[in-house]
Amino acid sequence: MATKPSFSEEVSNLMHASHGNPLKTCVQCGTCSGTCPVAEFMDHTPRCLIGMINANLKEEVLESNTFWYCASCFHCTVRCPKEIDIAGLMYSLKRYSIWKHTYPEGAIGPVFSETFVKSILRSGRSYEPVLAPTYIFSYGVREFLNEAHTATNLMLKGRLPVLPPRIKRLENFKKMANKIIPMGGA
Ligand code: SF4
Ligand code: SF4
Repeated sequence: MATKPSFSEEVSNLMHASHGNPLKTCVQCGTCSGTCPVAEFMDHTPRCLIGMINANLKEEVLESNTFWYCASCFHCTVRCPKEIDIAGLMYSLKRYSIWKHTYPEGAIGPVFSETFVKSILRSGRSYEPVLAPTYIFSYGVREFLNEAHTATNLMLKGRLPVLPPRIKRLENFKKMANKIIPMGGA
C-alpha cells in the first residue's frame, strides 16, 4: 500500500520543475534571510521556514505569512550557497495554500493572486484598476485617497489606460495559459 507523502515531500513534489537543489540540502546558513528585503515583515525568515518544512511542521508553515510577503525579487535564490530555489519555494507554497484553501479568510495575497490570473486570462495583460480593489480597502483613508489621486493623474496623463488593454491573438494565449494554470476555465 502506498504511504502518504510527508509535508516536506509534498513541497518537494510541487517544486519538481525548479532547477534548484532539494530543500534537504539547506545548511541553515541564513544568507537567504540576510539578503531578503522583506524579512522583517515575515512571521518566519526564509531560513527558518525551510527548517520548518524539513521538520514537517505543516500547520505552522501554512499559517505563516512568509510566502505571501515574498516579493519575488530572487535575491535569496541567486545567493544561496547550496543553489536552492527559495523564490520558487515561495511560489510553491502559495500554490499549495490556494489549492488546499489553507489561507485565512480575508487574506489579501490569495485574492490578489487569483484576481491577477483571471485578469491575465481575460485580456493577456495585467490591469491595475482591476487589481487595486483586492488590497486598496485595507489601507487607511489617507493612503486610499493618495492612491486614488495618483491613479486619476496617471489616467489623465495617458499613463494608465481607461479600458483594459488586450494583446493580439488572445485566443491562442488563453489556450496556452489554460493548459498550465488549473483555474477551471476562469
Ligand atoms: S541561503 Fe540556502 S543554504 Fe543558506 S539558509 Fe538559505 S536556503 Fe539554506
Ligand atoms: S525572493 Fe522572496 S524570500 Fe527571496 S529574498 Fe526576495 S522577497 Fe525574500
